Amino acid sequence: MGRKRQKVVKYVKQRLPSQYLCPNCGKNTVSIILKDDEGIGRIICASCGLKEQFPVPENTAPVDAYCIFVDNYYGVEEPPTQ
Ligand SMILES: [Zn+2]
Repeated sequence: MGRKRQKVVKYVKQRLPSQYLCPNCGKNTVSIILKDDEGIGRIICASCGLKEQFPVPENTAPVDAYCIFVDNYYGVEEPPTQ
């Protein structure tokens, strides 16, 4: 309403399609590799060399695999219930 949107298409996000923040070194250098046929996800950090391999459910999106990895990395601490 009122304001017209300028037709500006940003493709910035496409530059790093599968690079995520590394919980070890804090850089956006983590690559997600999904082996759908094996049900395995792998992450590799290009900066610090952190590698992890873990089982993922079928049709897991890279971002979901990243979440699983981060949960594993931090040991899945549940917030204290009050
Ligand atoms: Zn790293």
